[in-house]
Amino acid sequence: ISPAMIRNFSIIAHIDHGKSTLADRILEFTGAITEREKQEQFLDNMDLERERGITIKLQSVRLRYQAKDGQVYLLNLIDTPGHVDFSYEVSRSLQACEGALLVVDAAQGVEAQTLANFYLAWENELEILPVINKIDLPNAEPERVRKEIEDIIGWDASEAVLASAKAGIGMEDILEQIVKHIPPPSGKVEDPLRALIFDSLYDPYKGVIIYMRVVDGTLRKGMKIELMATGKVYEVTEIGVLTPHPVAVSELSVGEVGFVVANIKNVKDSRVGDTITDADRPAQEPLPGYRPITPMVFCGIYPVDSSQYEDLREALEKLELNDASLSYEPETSTALGFGFRCGFLGLLHMEIIQERIEREFQIPLITTAPSVIYHVYQTDGSKIEIENPTLMPAQQKIERVEEPYIKATMMAPNEYVGSIMEICQNKRGQYVDMEYMEGNRVNLIYRLPLAEIVYDFFDQLKSSTKGYASFDYELIGYQPSDLVKMDILLNGEVVDAFSFIVHRDRAYHRGKKLAAKLRKLIPRQMFEVPIQAVIGNKVVARETIRAMRKNVLAKCYGGDITRKRKLLEKQKEGKKRMKSVGSVEVPQEAFMAILQMD
Ligand code: GDP
Ligand code: MG
Repeated sequence: ISPAMIRNFSIIAHIDHGKSTLADRILEFTGAITEREKQEQFLDNMDLERERGITIKLQSVRLRYQAKDGQVYLLNLIDTPGHVDFSYEVSRSLQACEGALLVVDAAQGVEAQTLANFYLAWENELEILPVINKIDLPNAEPERVRKEIEDIIGWDASEAVLASAKAGIGMEDILEQIVKHIPPPSGKVEDPLRALIFDSLYDPYKGVIIYMRVVDGTLRKGMKIELMATGKVYEVTEIGVLTPHPVAVSELSVGEVGFVVANIKNVKDSRVGDTITDADRPAQEPLPGYRPITPMVFCGIYPVDSSQYEDLREALEKLELNDASLSYEPETSTALGFGFRCGFLGLLHMEIIQERIEREFQIPLITTAPSVIYHVYQTDGSKIEIENPTLMPAQQKIERVEEPYIKATMMAPNEYVGSIMEICQNKRGQYVDMEYMEGNRVNLIYRLPLAEIVYDFFDQLKSSTKGYASFDYELIGYQPSDLVKMDILLNGEVVDAFSFIVHRDRAYHRGKKLAAKLRKLIPRQMFEVPIQAVIGNKVVARETIRAMRKNVLAKCYGGDITRKRKLLEKQKEGKKRMKSVGSVEVPQEAFMAILQMD
C-alpha cells in the first residue's frame, strides 16, 4: 500500500458529544461493520466504559473508502481515551495520526474537553477538521456553534461538516474532508523500522498484543524486534490489522496501523509511547516523546471480608496484566487488616480500578484516602519515600519533608481568570505565567502541590468555570513544604487508615472538620466514642459520638452530607459497608471523608 493512499485520524470531543456514535457510523458507512454489530457501540468494548461513557482502552480500525475521485483510500481510525488521567496515552495516540475530527455538539457547543482535546491535537500538529454533530436535535444551533468554535477556540470552522451521527447525516462529507485535508503519512520506507506503540493489552492466549503505527521502515512477521525503552528483543509471531475484526497480514509499512504479537508476557514490557525497531538493523534514535508512566496517587485497598484477601490479590494480578500504569504491593493496617497499597495515574483511574474489582471480581472493598509520595529527609541524614501516611516518622526525626509539585496548564475564556486564580491560591498554588490568546482565551500556568490536585481540584475548577476550563498537568519535581502527619484516634486508639499528611497551616482546620465529619458518619455504638485529631501528642480537635439510647434505632448515618464526588454517591447507594475497627463499627464513607474537606 502506498503511503499516499493512507489517512490516519482520530476523533476528539467533549464527553457525550457523539464521538463513539460517529465512529460507529463511519464504520458502518464504509462497510466495516454489519447490521448485527451495529447493536453495540463497537469501539467501546468494556461494560464499565459504556456506563461511564468514557473510553479507557485505545483501539484502531482500518477502513476502506472509495472517494469521489475514484481512488480507494485506507483510513485508520484511532480511538483515544477521554480523561486527563490518561492524557499521556491520548497524546501518544494522537501522535500516531495526521489529523483529527473535532466533534462539537450542535446544541451544547464548545465545552471544556472540546478545548482541552483541541489543544492536544494542535500540539501534536494535526490537521483538525471540525464536525458539528447532532444537527437533528430540535434545539441544535449549528451556526451559533460554528461561531463559537471560531470565537472560543480560534479555529476556522467555515468548512465544518454539519452532521448527525445518529441519523447518518454528513458521513460522506466527513470522509471526503479526511481524504482531501488530512496529509498522508510521510515516513521513509528504506529507513530502519520505527513503530510507535500507542496501546497494548494482555490476551490470555496470545500474551501481549501491541497496537502500533509504523513511522519508518517495514515490520515483518518473523522479524526480531527491539523495544527501545527496555532494550528487550522479541520475535514477531503475528501481525495484523483490525477491520475491526483482526485480520493477519505479513507486513506493515510506513503509515500503517495494526497489531503485533511477539511472545511478550507483560504489558509493562511494552510501554505506550515506546518505539519498536528492527533488532538486526536498529534505528539510531527512538521516536520522540516517550515518557515512562509513573503512578501519582496511592491508596490502600482492603477487602471488607478479610477472607477475600487472596481473591483481591488475584484480581489485582489480572487487572495489572492489562494496565501497565497500575501498581500494587501488600500492606497491613492495624485497623483494616491485610490489603494492598495501590498506585494510580490519578483519581479517575483509581475509581475505575476499584469499581472493576467490585464489579468484575465481586469483592466489596474498603479504600483509604488517596495520598501522594512524600520524600522525608531524616535528621540522621537518610531519605525515605513515603506513600502511606502511616509510615511518616516521628516529628523529631524529620529534618524536612518534600512533596511532589505539578505544573498545571489551564485554558479558559478570559472571564474566568479570577475564579481560576482563586482556586489555585486556595490550593497552595504558585503563579507562573498567564498568556492571553486568540479567541478571547487565556492560558494560565501554576505550580501546585499534587496532593491538592488529588482531592477535588478538577471538580472545583470545572464548576467555577461552567465546565469551560481545560486542565492538563505534568509532574515537575519535589519542593520542601511544612507538612505534618495528622492522626485520628477513635476511642483512644490511633486508626492508621485515617492518618493523613497535611500542610501545617491547614492542619488545625482540617483536623476539626474531619473530626466533625466522622462524628456524623460513624453510627452510634453501645458506648460513647471519643474522636480526636492529633499531631504528634497535640490534640487539635475532639468530638464525641454519644452512646446509643435503647429507644433509638441505629439509623443515624449522616444523611445531610453533601457528597462532592460521584464515587461517594455510588457508595451510598450500595449497601452500607462497615468495618470493625477495634470495637467501633466504621462505615466505608468515613475512610473517604478526608476527600470532602474544603
Ligand atoms: P461520546 O461520549 O462522545 O462517545 O458520545 P456518544 O457517542 O456515546 O453519544 C452520547 C449520546 O449522544 C448518546 O446518547 C448518543 O445516542 C447521542 N448522540 C450521538 N450522536 C447524536 C446525533 O447526531 N444526534 C442525536 N440526537 N444524538 C446523538
Ligand atoms: Mg464514547
